[in-house]
Amino acid sequence: MYDVAIIGAGVIGCAVARELSRYDLKVVLIEKDTDIANGTTKANSAIVHGGYDAKPGSLKARFNVEGNAMFDEICKELDVPFQRIGSLVLAFDHEDVQAIQELYDRGVINGVPNMEMLDREQILALEPNLNKDIIAALHAPTAGIVGPWELAIAMAENAIENGVELKLEHKVTQIEKLENGYGISTDKGKLKAAYVINCAGLYADEVHNMVADPSFRIIPRRGQYNVFDRSVGDFVKKVIFQCPTKKGKGVLIAPTVHGNLIVGPDAEELDCKESIETTMEGLGFIREQGKKSTEKVPSHAIITAFAGLRATPSTGDFIVEELTEAKGFIDVAGIESPGLTAAPAIGVYVLELLKNSGVILKEKESFNPIRRKAIRFMELTDEEKAELIKRDPRFGRIICRCESITEGEIVDIIGRKAGALTVDGVKRRARPGTGRCQGGFCGPRVMEILARELEMDITEVLKDRRGSYLLTGPTKVDTGIEESFDAVAAAKEL
Ligand SMILES: Cc1cc2nc3c(=O)[nH]c(=O)nc-3n(C[C@H](O)[C@H](O)[C@H](O)COP(=O)(O)OP(=O)(O)OC[C@H]3O[C@@H](n4cnc5c(N)ncnc54)[C@H](O)[C@@H]3O)c2cc1C
Repeated sequence: MYDVAIIGAGVIGCAVARELSRYDLKVVLIEKDTDIANGTTKANSAIVHGGYDAKPGSLKARFNVEGNAMFDEICKELDVPFQRIGSLVLAFDHEDVQAIQELYDRGVINGVPNMEMLDREQILALEPNLNKDIIAALHAPTAGIVGPWELAIAMAENAIENGVELKLEHKVTQIEKLENGYGISTDKGKLKAAYVINCAGLYADEVHNMVADPSFRIIPRRGQYNVFDRSVGDFVKKVIFQCPTKKGKGVLIAPTVHGNLIVGPDAEELDCKESIETTMEGLGFIREQGKKSTEKVPSHAIITAFAGLRATPSTGDFIVEELTEAKGFIDVAGIESPGLTAAPAIGVYVLELLKNSGVILKEKESFNPIRRKAIRFMELTDEEKAELIKRDPRFGRIICRCESITEGEIVDIIGRKAGALTVDGVKRRARPGTGRCQGGFCGPRVMEILARELEMDITEVLKDRRGSYLLTGPTKVDTGIEESFDAVAAAKEL
């Protein structure tokens, strides 16, 4: 019997798991997918928001501002890339000026520190590539950028090192109320827990409905992006927002923590919770909309596109509460933007809810908040590089030419707690495949390393999710036509 079961290993479930790992509790983190951070956490703007956007008094406002303040410490402890670069919300006319003044006033009520209004000259001095018809901007210096999946993976790794159990590829299918807790059925068997935390993202309504009457719906709202090559990564220095509309915060332009540039998202309500494909219309819209901030968007340097799904709650605010009709069951639902920013604060708040519900939180003496630093070969001095290669020659073999990632780094992130199991898992942890060639060169080499380290056949290596096989059989068969047909047929089946 577990003390606490957390359903969903996105950034929210991982934040809750890490907070709980400070205490003497038996905790399990249950995830239906092949990896941590495979849901909304892997596809968003990666902004640590200032906190002026959410309605005062809402949970979004509270957790945004509290969460933002926690990022320096948490990212230092866990070796997660984070830069507090600040954000600008641009105003182009009188109406926009009123709108950014309202954001400023809201920010003051929400407790956002050090905001200021800038005029045209001040803005263009900071950001010379923006359009010259800008008349004012709201500057929030506490806003930042972070590696979103890196944050979730790091929190999970640290939680596991401190005793939390991770069960990947365990989809929760049913939950039964027991006298002293809950019986949780998964597609890989059953387990019991005294308390359950529902961090199931887009599926949090369905998991809620397993123990209580429906009280909210999660509506998937897609947002699409373009990612630009690192050669234009310094096109803007800060996160550049347009004035928010009813549909969201508008199209932003921002650098990423790895030196790329990102433009997006749009906002499109859908019925399907799995529609993460990009569309011509969506990408066309963000390209046009981006021009409002700068006519000079360097479209020639686009290297990829992606889409993510916001888990928009029908209630309008985050839902973080223990259910009255299911004691010991806590919903952490409807965590749309600014959920990434809010995650560390939500983790702490869930502890409070558990304490109020009767959980005794005894601190573990052995808790270690520090995660072993990742080896970033290219950031080492020549002497350090030579020393490392002498110790382990795999650091002398470059696998990803675009990002200069070595075999040694890839082997390291496969071997860690909550290590990579798929090609995308390697990409998210060590970054081969994120450069200009998007894995064209390094993909097969990463597969070979995965197969060797995880002791599996290379045809079993997955791109990402269950069933996403990359190889179906040999392409250059010399035994006649039949085998070639087999390979083609297998490919078609997938
Ligand atoms: C377009 C877009 C832009 C955004 N931009 C920002 C931003 O700039 N800044 C910011 O702060 N926030 C942003 N967000 C919001 C942020 O990304 C989310 O709030 C955050 O990632 C939500 O994390 P989560 O853990 O709740 O959900 P997820 O990451 O989706 O995790 C939920 C997990 O639960 C698992 N699960 C579901 N059902 C089951 C089941 N039955 N059994 C087991 N596991 C299950 C899923 O597989 C998934 O891994 C953005 C979101 C989007 C879509």
